[in-house]
Amino acid sequence: MMTDRFPIVSQTELAPGIFQMVLQTPQMAQEARPGQLVDLYCAEKDKLLPRPISLFDADPEEGTLSLIYAVVGKGTEEFSTYDEGDTVRVTGPLGTGFPLDRAADMNEIFLVGGGLGIPPMFFLAKCLHALYPEKPIKVFLGFRSEPWIGDIFTPYAEVLPSSDDGACGFKGTALDRMTAYLNEAGACARILYACGPIPMMRAIQPFAEEKGIETWFSLEERMGCGFGACYGCPAKLKAADGTTVLKRVCKDGPVFPGKDVIFS
Ligand SMILES: Cc1cc2nc3c(=O)[nH]c(=O)nc-3n(C[C@H](O)[C@H](O)[C@H](O)COP(=O)(O)OP(=O)(O)OC[C@H]3O[C@@H](n4cnc5c(N)ncnc54)[C@H](O)[C@@H]3O)c2cc1C
Repeated sequence: MMTDRFPIVSQTELAPGIFQMVLQTPQMAQEARPGQLVDLYCAEKDKLLPRPISLFDADPEEGTLSLIYAVVGKGTEEFSTYDEGDTVRVTGPLGTGFPLDRAADMNEIFLVGGGLGIPPMFFLAKCLHALYPEKPIKVFLGFRSEPWIGDIFTPYAEVLPSSDDGACGFKGTALDRMTAYLNEAGACARILYACGPIPMMRAIQPFAEEKGIETWFSLEERMGCGFGACYGCPAKLKAADGTTVLKRVCKDGPVFPGKDVIFS
């Protein structure tokens, strides 16, 4: 983990209000693991707290990290004004990332991404495919309407999109799409990694448990310091003895075993 200012290699608006920023960060690009995040700091002094953004991709050869973010407030609004050649203060890579080794004994791998939870699934798909080239990877992408990402997954995974209004793929949620797939597919050992809105993961949890699918959820929580000191981003989890424990999303997570997450 390191903190420094890094140059922006490119900044592209993928869809209205959704940007891809590529940063020249050679050491972080070497260390980065799927499911990890970086903290971006604003230049304006009134916005002190860092903004956590997941890794969309890392290229150790080019020495770059790639992020996809939506403009939702003052911080992300500021980031969207940056141009190629500008620098931004970054801390990272942070967090635990997705456990890739859990897929070793599985026959099929499911990735489920909803909305802004889709980008981290790309880096994950790429790394899982590199580790287990023979294993089928299915990526269920849930959009509100028109897709703004998708084809880039195809070298690594089969893409099964869905949208709330039927504008792309299956009309319904990513879970509806997965249910339809499982109704046709035979039984085998499966693992599921998910990132997206809480209602999506809350719905996946009992479904996956009933089907005997191991799950790993990447959680999003409003963050304070971003490196575990302030305990400002608690996630509630079930401990092995049945008690409830609080974990820090920024440092202990953001990825947790899906079966243990308590959604309030
Ligand atoms: C682990 C993790 C990964 C994330 N990955 C992405 C990603 O890949 N792409 C993306 O677009 N967004 C991602 N987010 C959400 C992103 O951090 C917020 O949208 C962003 O911080 C909002 O900042 P703002 O100043 O524009 O909004 P404001 O609402 O003005 O922010 C005010 C304060 O609240 C914090 N805050 C607001 N929303 C969130 C949030 N959802 N999570 C954490 N802190 C928040 C901000 O950091 C800031 O300190 C992620 C959040 C977490 C926790």
